[in-house]
Amino acid sequence: MIWDTEHETMSREDMRALQLERLKWTVNYAYENVPFYRERLDGVGLKPGHIKTLNDIENIPFTTKDDLRKYYPFGLFAAPMSKIVRIHASSGTTGKPVVAGYTRNDMEMWTEMVARIVTMAGGREGGIAQGSFGYGLFTGGFGLHYGLERVGATVVPASSGNSEKQIMLLEDFGATALISPPSYALRLAEIAGEMGKSMDRFPLRVGLFGGEGHSMGMSQEIEKTLGITDTQNYGMTEVCGPGVSGECLEKNGMHLNEDHFYPEMIDPDTGDTMGYGEAGELVLTTLTKEGIPMLRFRTKDITVLDETPCPCGRTTVRMDRVHGRSDDMLIVSGVNVFPSQIEEVLMEMAGIGPHYEIVVYKKGYLDALEIRVELVDGSLLERFRELERLSKRIEHRLHTVLGIHTKVRLMEPKSLKRFEGKAKRVIDKRDDKSYKVE
Ligand code: ZN
Repeated sequence: MIWDTEHETMSREDMRALQLERLKWTVNYAYENVPFYRERLDGVGLKPGHIKTLNDIENIPFTTKDDLRKYYPFGLFAAPMSKIVRIHASSGTTGKPVVAGYTRNDMEMWTEMVARIVTMAGGREGGIAQGSFGYGLFTGGFGLHYGLERVGATVVPASSGNSEKQIMLLEDFGATALISPPSYALRLAEIAGEMGKSMDRFPLRVGLFGGEGHSMGMSQEIEKTLGITDTQNYGMTEVCGPGVSGECLEKNGMHLNEDHFYPEMIDPDTGDTMGYGEAGELVLTTLTKEGIPMLRFRTKDITVLDETPCPCGRTTVRMDRVHGRSDDMLIVSGVNVFPSQIEEVLMEMAGIGPHYEIVVYKKGYLDALEIRVELVDGSLLERFRELERLSKRIEHRLHTVLGIHTKVRLMEPKSLKRFEGKAKRVIDKRDDKSYKVE
Protein backbone atom coordinates (compact mmCIF):
# COMPACT_ATOMS: atom_id res chain seq x y z
CA MET A 1 0.00 0.00 0.00
CA ILE A 2 1.13 3.54 -0.80
CA TRP A 3 -0.04 6.34 1.50
CA ASP A 4 0.07 9.32 -0.86
CA THR A 5 -0.12 7.90 -4.38
CA GLU A 6 -0.20 11.36 -5.97
CA HIS A 7 3.17 12.45 -4.59
CA GLU A 8 4.92 9.12 -4.11
CA THR A 9 4.34 7.83 -7.63
CA MET A 10 4.69 11.07 -9.60
CA SER A 11 6.61 10.96 -12.88
CA ARG A 12 10.15 12.31 -12.56
CA GLU A 13 9.25 15.28 -14.81
CA ASP A 14 6.24 16.22 -12.72
CA MET A 15 8.32 15.93 -9.55
CA ARG A 16 10.99 18.22 -11.00
CA ALA A 17 8.35 20.77 -11.95
CA LEU A 18 6.79 20.67 -8.49
CA GLN A 19 10.21 20.97 -6.84
CA LEU A 20 11.11 24.00 -8.96
CA GLU A 21 7.87 25.75 -8.13
CA ARG A 22 8.38 25.06 -4.42
CA LEU A 23 12.08 25.96 -4.51
CA LYS A 24 11.21 29.39 -5.94
CA TRP A 25 8.67 29.88 -3.17
CA THR A 26 11.13 28.78 -0.45
CA VAL A 27 14.01 30.98 -1.61
CA ASN A 28 11.74 34.00 -1.82
CA TYR A 29 10.12 33.23 1.53
CA ALA A 30 13.49 32.78 3.27
CA TYR A 31 14.87 35.95 1.66
CA GLU A 32 11.89 38.04 2.73
CA ASN A 33 11.62 36.72 6.28
CA VAL A 34 15.07 35.71 7.54
CA PRO A 35 17.80 38.40 7.69
CA PHE A 36 20.46 35.65 7.75
CA TYR A 37 19.38 34.34 4.34
CA ARG A 38 18.94 37.82 2.89
CA GLU A 39 22.53 38.70 3.85
CA ARG A 40 23.87 35.40 2.57
CA LEU A 41 22.13 35.72 -0.81
CA ASP A 42 22.97 39.42 -1.16
CA GLY A 43 26.57 38.48 -0.35
CA VAL A 44 26.77 36.41 -3.55
CA GLY A 45 24.59 38.79 -5.57
CA LEU A 46 21.69 36.37 -5.80
CA LYS A 47 18.05 37.50 -5.79
CA PRO A 48 15.14 35.06 -5.44
CA GLY A 49 14.14 35.93 -9.01
CA HIS A 50 17.42 34.44 -10.27
CA ILE A 51 16.20 30.92 -9.46
CA LYS A 52 14.88 29.80 -12.84
CA THR A 53 15.90 26.13 -12.92
CA LEU A 54 16.64 23.53 -10.25
CA ASN A 55 20.35 23.75 -11.13
CA ASP A 56 20.34 27.40 -10.04
CA ILE A 57 20.24 26.10 -6.48
CA GLU A 58 24.00 25.56 -6.80
CA ASN A 59 24.50 29.33 -6.55
CA ILE A 60 23.01 29.42 -3.05
CA PRO A 61 25.55 29.23 -0.20
CA PHE A 62 25.38 26.21 2.11
CA THR A 63 23.80 26.36 5.57
CA THR A 64 25.51 24.45 8.38
CA LYS A 65 24.78 23.29 11.90
CA ASP A 66 27.08 26.09 13.13
CA ASP A 67 24.79 28.66 11.51
CA LEU A 68 21.87 27.24 13.48
CA ARG A 69 23.88 27.37 16.70
CA LYS A 70 25.01 30.91 16.02
CA TYR A 71 21.45 32.16 15.65
CA TYR A 72 20.23 30.23 18.69
CA PRO A 73 17.45 30.05 19.65
CA PHE A 74 15.03 31.62 17.16
CA GLY A 75 17.26 33.67 14.83
CA LEU A 76 16.51 31.58 11.73
CA PHE A 77 12.75 31.38 12.24
CA ALA A 78 10.86 32.74 9.27
CA ALA A 79 7.43 32.74 10.91
CA PRO A 80 6.48 34.95 13.87
CA MET A 81 6.30 33.18 17.25
CA SER A 82 2.52 33.59 17.23
CA LYS A 83 2.45 31.12 14.29
CA ILE A 84 4.83 28.59 15.87
CA VAL A 85 2.88 25.78 17.53
CA ARG A 86 5.77 23.45 18.47
CA ILE A 87 9.44 23.67 19.37
CA HIS A 88 11.93 20.81 19.28
CA ALA A 89 15.67 20.79 19.83
CA SER A 90 18.56 18.45 19.17
CA SER A 91 20.16 16.66 22.06
CA GLY A 92 23.42 18.60 21.61
CA THR A 93 25.83 17.23 24.18
CA THR A 94 28.18 20.18 23.90
CA GLY A 95 27.12 23.81 23.65
CA LYS A 96 23.71 25.05 22.62
CA PRO A 97 21.28 22.71 20.92
CA VAL A 98 19.82 23.19 17.46
CA VAL A 99 16.27 24.52 17.74
CA ALA A 100 13.43 23.85 15.30
CA GLY A 101 10.06 25.61 15.21
CA TYR A 102 6.96 24.28 13.46
CA THR A 103 3.88 26.13 12.22
CA ARG A 104 0.52 24.39 12.06
CA ASN A 105 1.18 23.63 8.37
CA ASP A 106 4.62 22.22 9.20
CA MET A 107 3.04 19.86 11.74
CA GLU A 108 0.54 18.70 9.12
CA MET A 109 3.27 18.06 6.52
CA TRP A 110 5.40 16.25 9.08
CA THR A 111 2.52 14.00 10.07
CA GLU A 112 1.84 13.18 6.42
CA MET A 113 5.50 12.43 5.69
CA VAL A 114 5.73 10.09 8.65
CA ALA A 115 2.45 8.43 7.63
CA ARG A 116 4.08 7.65 4.27
CA ILE A 117 7.10 6.12 5.98
CA VAL A 118 5.02 4.07 8.38
CA THR A 119 2.97 2.74 5.45
CA MET A 120 6.16 1.88 3.54
CA ALA A 121 7.28 -0.29 6.45
CA GLY A 122 3.95 -2.11 6.39
CA GLY A 123 2.38 -0.17 9.27
CA ARG A 124 -1.37 0.17 9.02
CA GLU A 125 -4.68 0.47 10.79
CA GLY A 126 -5.01 -2.23 13.40
CA GLY A 127 -1.29 -2.33 14.12
CA ILE A 128 0.02 -1.56 17.59
CA ALA A 129 3.18 0.53 17.70
CA GLN A 130 5.40 0.88 20.74
CA GLY A 131 7.29 4.17 20.59
CA SER A 132 10.56 3.73 22.49
CA PHE A 133 12.17 6.98 21.42
CA GLY A 134 12.33 9.72 24.03
CA TYR A 135 9.29 11.98 24.17
CA GLY A 136 10.55 15.47 24.78
CA LEU A 137 12.56 18.09 22.93
CA PHE A 138 14.17 15.34 20.85
CA THR A 139 12.20 14.87 17.60
CA GLY A 140 12.22 11.04 17.71
CA GLY A 141 9.27 10.31 20.00
CA PHE A 142 6.74 12.92 18.97
CA GLY A 143 7.98 12.92 15.39
CA LEU A 144 6.80 9.40 14.65
CA HIS A 145 3.83 9.53 16.99
CA TYR A 146 1.44 11.59 14.87
CA GLY A 147 2.20 9.78 11.62
CA LEU A 148 1.53 6.44 13.30
CA GLU A 149 -1.81 7.75 14.58
CA ARG A 150 -2.62 9.14 11.13
CA VAL A 151 -2.42 5.70 9.52
CA GLY A 152 -4.66 4.36 12.27
CA ALA A 153 -2.13 2.43 14.34
CA THR A 154 -2.58 2.21 18.11
CA VAL A 155 0.35 4.09 19.61
CA VAL A 156 1.92 3.06 22.91
CA PRO A 157 4.11 6.07 23.85
CA ALA A 158 6.48 4.08 26.07
CA SER A 159 9.27 6.66 25.58
CA SER A 160 12.90 5.73 26.25
CA GLY A 161 14.40 4.02 29.28
CA ASN A 162 13.10 1.51 31.81
CA SER A 163 13.84 -1.45 29.59
CA GLU A 164 12.18 -4.07 31.77
CA LYS A 165 8.91 -2.19 31.62
CA GLN A 166 9.36 -1.88 27.84
CA ILE A 167 9.54 -5.68 27.64
CA MET A 168 6.44 -6.05 29.81
CA LEU A 169 4.49 -3.63 27.61
CA LEU A 170 5.68 -5.28 24.41
CA GLU A 171 4.49 -8.63 25.69
CA ASP A 172 1.23 -7.56 27.39
CA PHE A 173 0.01 -4.96 24.87
CA GLY A 174 1.23 -7.04 21.95
CA ALA A 175 2.90 -4.34 19.87
CA THR A 176 3.35 -5.35 16.23
CA ALA A 177 5.81 -2.54 15.53
CA LEU A 178 8.74 -1.24 17.56
CA ILE A 179 9.94 2.34 17.05
CA SER A 180 13.45 2.90 18.45
CA PRO A 181 17.14 3.30 17.67
CA PRO A 182 18.36 -0.01 16.13
CA SER A 183 20.91 -0.68 18.86
CA TYR A 184 18.16 -0.37 21.48
CA ALA A 185 16.18 -3.18 19.83
CA LEU A 186 19.14 -5.50 20.45
CA ARG A 187 19.45 -4.22 24.00
CA LEU A 188 15.77 -5.02 24.61
CA ALA A 189 16.25 -8.54 23.25
CA GLU A 190 19.17 -9.01 25.61
CA ILE A 191 17.17 -7.84 28.64
CA ALA A 192 14.23 -10.01 27.62
CA GLY A 193 16.68 -12.94 27.62
CA GLU A 194 17.78 -12.07 31.15
CA MET A 195 14.11 -12.06 32.14
CA GLY A 196 13.79 -15.55 30.68
CA LYS A 197 11.76 -14.38 27.69
CA SER A 198 12.47 -14.67 24.01
CA MET A 199 11.44 -11.67 21.92
CA ASP A 200 11.03 -13.75 18.78
CA ARG A 201 7.93 -15.21 20.46
CA PHE A 202 6.36 -11.75 20.88
CA PRO A 203 3.71 -10.57 18.35
CA LEU A 204 6.27 -7.99 17.09
CA ARG A 205 6.53 -8.07 13.28
CA VAL A 206 8.44 -5.01 12.23
CA GLY A 207 10.88 -2.42 13.55
CA LEU A 208 11.02 1.19 12.38
CA PHE A 209 14.54 2.15 13.30
CA GLY A 210 16.27 5.50 13.11
CA GLY A 211 18.12 8.12 15.08
CA GLU A 212 21.51 6.50 14.46
CA GLY A 213 23.14 4.74 11.56
CA HIS A 214 22.92 1.00 11.27
CA SER A 215 24.83 -1.26 8.99
CA MET A 216 23.42 -4.10 6.93
CA GLY A 217 25.01 -6.52 9.40
CA MET A 218 23.24 -4.88 12.35
CA SER A 219 19.98 -5.04 10.42
CA GLN A 220 20.41 -8.79 9.85
CA GLU A 221 21.34 -9.33 13.49
CA ILE A 222 18.11 -7.57 14.57
CA GLU A 223 16.00 -9.64 12.18
CA LYS A 224 17.54 -12.85 13.45
CA THR A 225 17.42 -12.02 17.17
CA LEU A 226 13.97 -10.46 17.32
CA GLY A 227 12.35 -12.42 14.52
CA ILE A 228 11.07 -9.23 12.84
CA THR A 229 11.52 -7.22 9.66
CA ASP A 230 14.01 -4.41 10.18
CA THR A 231 13.28 -1.15 8.34
CA GLN A 232 15.15 2.08 8.67
CA ASN A 233 14.14 5.70 8.40
CA TYR A 234 16.03 8.94 8.35
CA GLY A 235 15.73 12.54 9.39
CA MET A 236 17.23 15.25 11.55
CA THR A 237 16.06 18.12 13.72
CA GLU A 238 17.52 20.75 11.39
CA VAL A 239 15.10 19.95 8.57
CA CYS A 240 12.13 18.60 10.63
CA GLY A 241 13.03 15.32 12.40
CA PRO A 242 12.21 11.77 11.31
CA GLY A 243 10.22 11.59 8.09
CA VAL A 244 12.77 12.75 5.53
CA SER A 245 13.08 9.26 4.09
CA GLY A 246 12.17 5.69 4.94
CA GLU A 247 12.56 2.17 3.68
CA CYS A 248 9.85 0.24 1.85
CA LEU A 249 9.66 -3.54 2.20
CA GLU A 250 11.79 -3.99 -0.93
CA LYS A 251 14.59 -2.75 1.31
CA ASN A 252 16.74 -1.21 -1.35
CA GLY A 253 17.25 2.24 0.08
CA MET A 254 15.08 4.85 1.76
CA HIS A 255 12.48 6.71 -0.33
CA LEU A 256 13.03 10.41 0.18
CA ASN A 257 10.02 12.71 0.41
CA GLU A 258 11.22 14.75 -2.52
CA ASP A 259 8.17 16.97 -2.77
CA HIS A 260 9.20 18.39 0.63
CA PHE A 261 13.00 18.10 0.47
CA TYR A 262 15.26 18.73 -2.49
CA PRO A 263 18.31 16.45 -2.19
CA GLU A 264 21.76 17.14 -3.61
CA MET A 265 25.01 15.21 -3.46
CA ILE A 266 28.24 17.05 -2.90
CA ASP A 267 31.88 16.21 -2.45
CA PRO A 268 32.34 16.72 1.31
CA ASP A 269 35.86 18.12 0.81
CA THR A 270 35.30 20.56 -2.03
CA GLY A 271 31.55 21.24 -1.85
CA ASP A 272 31.28 20.50 -5.59
CA THR A 273 28.02 19.01 -6.87
CA MET A 274 28.18 15.29 -7.64
CA GLY A 275 25.88 13.05 -9.64
CA TYR A 276 23.51 10.43 -8.33
CA GLY A 277 25.04 6.97 -7.97
CA GLU A 278 28.24 8.18 -6.31
CA ALA A 279 28.86 8.32 -2.56
CA GLY A 280 28.90 11.88 -1.30
CA GLU A 281 27.48 14.17 1.36
CA LEU A 282 23.72 14.68 1.34
CA VAL A 283 22.55 18.29 1.17
CA LEU A 284 18.88 19.05 1.78
CA THR A 285 16.75 22.08 0.97
CA THR A 286 13.30 22.21 2.52
CA LEU A 287 10.59 22.98 -0.05
CA THR A 288 7.52 23.53 2.11
CA LYS A 289 8.71 24.48 5.60
CA GLU A 290 7.39 27.68 7.12
CA GLY A 291 8.88 27.64 10.65
CA ILE A 292 12.52 27.38 9.59
CA PRO A 293 13.14 27.06 5.87
CA MET A 294 16.52 25.45 5.29
CA LEU A 295 18.51 26.30 2.16
CA ARG A 296 21.17 23.76 1.17
CA PHE A 297 21.70 22.29 4.62
CA ARG A 298 24.86 20.18 4.83
CA THR A 299 23.80 17.01 6.64
CA LYS A 300 27.38 15.62 6.91
CA ASP A 301 25.84 12.23 6.16
CA ILE A 302 27.58 10.19 3.47
CA THR A 303 25.22 8.22 1.26
CA VAL A 304 24.29 7.48 -2.37
CA LEU A 305 21.14 8.64 -4.21
CA ASP A 306 19.39 6.37 -6.68
CA GLU A 307 16.49 7.34 -8.92
CA THR A 308 16.07 4.05 -10.75
CA PRO A 309 12.53 2.66 -10.34
CA CYS A 310 11.71 0.67 -7.20
CA PRO A 311 9.57 -2.50 -7.53
CA CYS A 312 7.21 -1.11 -4.86
CA GLY A 313 5.88 1.39 -7.41
CA ARG A 314 7.12 4.55 -5.71
CA THR A 315 9.06 6.87 -7.98
CA THR A 316 10.77 9.01 -5.35
CA VAL A 317 14.56 8.96 -5.21
CA ARG A 318 16.07 6.51 -2.73
CA MET A 319 19.02 7.13 -0.46
CA ASP A 320 21.27 4.33 0.66
CA ARG A 321 21.73 3.57 4.35
CA VAL A 322 24.04 6.25 5.75
CA HIS A 323 27.61 5.05 5.26
CA GLY A 324 28.80 7.38 7.98
CA ARG A 325 28.95 11.01 8.97
CA SER A 326 31.82 13.02 7.59
CA ASP A 327 32.25 14.19 11.21
CA ASP A 328 32.64 10.62 12.46
CA MET A 329 35.16 9.63 9.85
CA LEU A 330 38.41 8.48 11.42
CA ILE A 331 41.70 8.87 9.64
CA VAL A 332 43.97 6.02 10.59
CA SER A 333 47.38 5.71 8.92
CA GLY A 334 46.10 8.04 6.22
CA VAL A 335 43.11 5.81 5.49
CA ASN A 336 39.51 7.02 5.90
CA VAL A 337 37.54 4.69 8.14
CA PHE A 338 33.88 4.92 9.07
CA PRO A 339 32.73 3.20 12.27
CA SER A 340 29.92 1.66 10.18
CA GLN A 341 32.48 -0.30 8.14
CA ILE A 342 33.89 -1.81 11.31
CA GLU A 343 30.38 -2.68 12.49
CA GLU A 344 29.70 -4.38 9.17
CA VAL A 345 32.72 -6.67 9.62
CA LEU A 346 31.96 -7.48 13.26
CA MET A 347 28.35 -8.38 12.53
CA GLU A 348 29.31 -11.02 9.99
CA MET A 349 31.81 -12.82 12.26
CA ALA A 350 30.73 -15.88 14.23
CA GLY A 351 31.48 -16.15 17.94
CA ILE A 352 31.10 -12.49 18.80
CA GLY A 353 28.01 -10.52 19.81
CA PRO A 354 26.64 -7.22 18.45
CA HIS A 355 28.10 -5.08 21.26
CA TYR A 356 31.36 -3.34 20.50
CA GLU A 357 33.43 -0.22 21.13
CA ILE A 358 36.01 1.48 18.96
CA VAL A 359 38.83 3.16 20.85
CA VAL A 360 40.92 5.70 18.94
CA TYR A 361 44.28 6.32 20.56
CA LYS A 362 47.72 7.62 19.75
CA LYS A 363 50.50 5.23 18.89
CA GLY A 364 53.47 7.55 18.61
CA TYR A 365 52.24 10.32 16.33
CA LEU A 366 49.70 8.19 14.53
CA ASP A 367 46.09 7.38 15.29
CA ALA A 368 45.42 3.72 15.97
CA LEU A 369 42.30 1.68 16.65
CA GLU A 370 41.45 -0.83 19.29
CA ILE A 371 38.22 -2.72 18.76
CA ARG A 372 36.60 -4.19 21.85
CA VAL A 373 33.93 -6.72 21.14
CA GLU A 374 32.02 -9.09 23.36
CA LEU A 375 32.23 -12.84 22.96
CA VAL A 376 29.04 -14.86 22.72
CA ASP A 377 30.61 -17.58 24.88
CA GLY A 378 32.56 -16.17 27.84
CA SER A 379 34.30 -19.48 28.59
CA LEU A 380 36.43 -18.90 25.50
CA LEU A 381 38.43 -16.44 27.62
CA GLU A 382 39.96 -19.45 29.35
CA ARG A 383 40.86 -21.19 26.13
CA PHE A 384 43.77 -19.02 25.14
CA ARG A 385 44.61 -20.54 21.77
CA GLU A 386 41.06 -20.44 20.48
CA LEU A 387 40.74 -16.89 21.74
CA GLU A 388 43.92 -15.90 19.96
CA ARG A 389 42.75 -17.55 16.76
CA LEU A 390 39.40 -15.71 16.83
CA SER A 391 40.93 -12.30 17.46
CA LYS A 392 43.47 -12.84 14.67
CA ARG A 393 40.66 -13.85 12.33
CA ILE A 394 38.74 -10.66 13.09
CA GLU A 395 41.88 -8.52 12.76
CA HIS A 396 42.61 -10.15 9.42
CA ARG A 397 39.09 -9.53 8.15
CA LEU A 398 39.19 -5.89 9.31
CA HIS A 399 42.51 -5.50 7.54
CA THR A 400 41.08 -6.88 4.32
CA VAL A 401 38.07 -4.53 4.41
CA LEU A 402 39.62 -1.37 5.88
CA GLY A 403 43.20 -1.68 4.70
CA ILE A 404 44.62 -0.92 8.15
CA HIS A 405 45.83 -2.87 11.16
CA THR A 406 43.65 -2.79 14.25
CA LYS A 407 43.96 -4.43 17.64
CA VAL A 408 40.97 -6.58 18.52
CA ARG A 409 40.23 -7.23 22.19
CA LEU A 410 37.67 -9.92 22.96
CA MET A 411 35.64 -9.16 26.05
CA GLU A 412 33.49 -11.05 28.45
CA PRO A 413 29.77 -11.10 27.49
CA LYS A 414 27.84 -8.07 28.85
CA SER A 415 30.99 -6.25 29.95
CA LEU A 416 30.61 -3.24 27.63
CA LYS A 417 28.40 -0.26 28.41
CA ARG A 418 24.76 -0.45 27.30
CA PHE A 419 22.65 2.49 26.10
CA GLU A 420 18.98 3.30 26.35
CA GLY A 421 19.08 5.76 23.47
CA LYS A 422 21.62 6.09 20.70
CA ALA A 423 24.67 3.95 21.25
CA LYS A 424 28.02 5.67 21.65
CA ARG A 425 30.53 3.37 19.99
CA VAL A 426 33.62 5.49 19.49
CA ILE A 427 35.81 6.37 22.46
CA ASP A 428 38.45 8.99 21.81
CA LYS A 429 41.62 8.48 23.85
CA ARG A 430 43.86 10.54 21.59
CA ASP A 431 44.49 13.13 24.30
CA ASP A 432 45.26 10.47 26.87
CA LYS A 433 49.01 9.98 26.46
CA SER A 434 49.07 7.19 29.01
CA TYR A 435 46.59 5.02 27.06
CA LYS A 436 48.40 2.00 25.66
CA VAL A 437 47.32 -1.16 23.95
CA GLU A 438 49.53 -4.23 24.19
ZN1 ZN B 1 10.25 1.09 -2.75
